[in-house]
Amino acid sequence: MFGRRRALLCRDAVELMTEYLEGGMAPEEQARFEAHLAHCDACTAYLDQMRATIATLGHLPFDHLPDVVVDELVDLYQRHRAS
Ligand SMILES: [Zn+2]
Repeated sequence: MFGRRRALLCRDAVELMTEYLEGGMAPEEQARFEAHLAHCDACTAYLDQMRATIATLGHLPFDHLPDVVVDELVDLYQRHRAS
């Protein structure tokens, strides 16, 4: 084995979302991303929100997520875990 496989963090997952939505993700990476979503309500909700935005605009709102969005999500996630 090549050592422990690092679990995907929310910050990583958010950064992968645009790639995921554009369908350009490698299968292994996509599997890790989906495994993270399976146990992370915050990222699942955020992905739904991005899908809704894309449906409205017809495209991604930005190429890369601004840091403020990532910080918001991490905050959301931490509050979710605390509850
Ligand atoms: Zn997450």
